Amino acid sequence: MTFQLFGLPVSRGVAIGRAVLVASSRIDVAHYYVGEEQVEAEIDRLRKARDLVAEGLGTMKRDLPPEAPAELSALLDVHLMLLHDETLTGATKQWIRERHYNAEWALSAQLEVLARQFDEMEDEYLRERKADLEQVVERLLGVLARGEDGASALPAQQRGPADADADPLVLVANDISPADMLQWKGGLFLGFVTDVGGKTSHTAIVARSMDIPAVVGAREASRLIRQDDWLVIDGDAGTVIVDPPPSVIAEYRALKRSRDASRAALARLRHLPAVTLDGESVELLANIEQPGDAAAALEAGAAGIGLFRSEFLFMNRDGDLPGEDEQFEAYRTAVEAMRGLPVTIRTVDVGADKALDRMSANELRHEHALNPALGLRAIRWSLSEPGMFRQQLRAILRAAAHGKVRILLPMVAHLSEVRQTLDALARARQQLDDAGRSYGPVEIGAMVEVPAAALVLPAFLRHFDFVSIGTNDLIQYTLAIDRADEAVAHLYNPWHPAVLQLVAQTISGARAAGKGVSVCGEMAGDTAFSELLLAMGLRSFSMHPSQIVAVKERVLATEARRWSAALPRILAADDPERECALAAGTIAQEKAPAIGAVPVRSATASAAAL
Ligand code: PEP
Ligand code: MG
Repeated sequence: MTFQLFGLPVSRGVAIGRAVLVASSRIDVAHYYVGEEQVEAEIDRLRKARDLVAEGLGTMKRDLPPEAPAELSALLDVHLMLLHDETLTGATKQWIRERHYNAEWALSAQLEVLARQFDEMEDEYLRERKADLEQVVERLLGVLARGEDGASALPAQQRGPADADADPLVLVANDISPADMLQWKGGLFLGFVTDVGGKTSHTAIVARSMDIPAVVGAREASRLIRQDDWLVIDGDAGTVIVDPPPSVIAEYRALKRSRDASRAALARLRHLPAVTLDGESVELLANIEQPGDAAAALEAGAAGIGLFRSEFLFMNRDGDLPGEDEQFEAYRTAVEAMRGLPVTIRTVDVGADKALDRMSANELRHEHALNPALGLRAIRWSLSEPGMFRQQLRAILRAAAHGKVRILLPMVAHLSEVRQTLDALARARQQLDDAGRSYGPVEIGAMVEVPAAALVLPAFLRHFDFVSIGTNDLIQYTLAIDRADEAVAHLYNPWHPAVLQLVAQTISGARAAGKGVSVCGEMAGDTAFSELLLAMGLRSFSMHPSQIVAVKERVLATEARRWSAALPRILAADDPERECALAAGTIAQEKAPAIGAVPVRSATASAAAL
């Protein structure tokens, strides 16, 4: 049966594929295809794992002390029965045979199918057996992951689609952490759907950085979509069509082709300088998460890296954190890849919706914080781990010997944080001097992402070479809206006059002080704000590489002077979005037609027609 779900559009494009449902707790289970010739070996892995688990359960049952309650023995019997049930192992083999899923993936796919059946059972006792099934599958996954069956999983380089005919896949989950999302980069899935999340949650940001269609905050999606359903994900409209008829699939394929064509047309602007109609040069920079992303930034025509979110180097590390040398290598790789263009490395910004898997004492406290977005995150975390912080600063300073590097500090709100950071930087330099290591000069800047920083900007500017406005957090903290919470996503409004006033004030304040200023939040890559930010005097935008050409197209068609004249009216309006649209209409009437984009048909109309 065809039906449609609505969520928040977070990463553009159309994806059509079969749903792979993954429970949040099993997202790190290995997902890869096995080749035709490996199918039997993979089934053998599963069989051996099942025998080992059965043996373990049998031993447990035999060794139960006489005083153990009778229920325990009965429970082990239930687990043994589930383990041998054809609906688990038999159907899992089918996934391996027919879809070429690896054993772990096949098991978790089948678990999702069975879990639904348990959820729908009338009888409470039977419904509760779902927990037993999950435990049995966890045991099997544990044996497979540890390679206790003697046959290890395929090495990473052998993973990938078994053949080009495999059905395309899209991932559906209740939630995906940014760290888990990162694992899928360059991988198996053509699109993502999650039940929770906001438009500027870090999961959404990583989805955008992967440049694949994604819809978050689709609430019941992981409950309503079934394993293997066909889905159409429209990342522009924020809709998901479940089980679409062939006519709808054909329509979306056509839409996808037309959107791809307009993107390809825009790509021609990549290496043109970004200059407004009245001759103002604009710097378009890239946001990256990993050093390997620098290539895409260059390819997109970025004038440098405006935001390297270094915290992504600290994720998915199974317990350890990157040391100084490892970080140095990562930063140097990015710096060298940018061939003399500036690279702005933001010091680690963990906390809130970006958790590390290693739990230090501080993080444990943070984990239990009532409101992690207001807790020990970003610069606060770094200053509470001074050794780790200096290690990162040393690594960045050393990378600065290989190119132009700027250090950016996240979430600064207090002058005391500025002083402590500058002390840490001085000590890091001293330590490098003492060790006889070479390092380079760096500019140092602060993110303006807490209203307090915007309000005391002159005091901050005395200590910094530049500031970068993190609108994602600035909106969150100005409006008291958790950016990752879909329940209040409708109130997360970049057009709110208070937000716009803080942004405008920061841009003009920094310019008046002769300091550099850029915007590196999602607003910079959203073409709805390009003219307005130019009107505010912004000349440096940092965004995901895939957004650069679209923003450049706007820059090339904008007359900054005219827009600046309209700015006071927009900022004073109760509804700045409407006022901005009115200004755009007036300005368009006054000037010659701009470079036109290939019009893109709205998907909402066709989706709503279902
Ligand atoms: C921001 O807050 O706007 C920003 C760029 O930082 P992040 O999204 O990583 O919090
Ligand atoms: Mg931020």
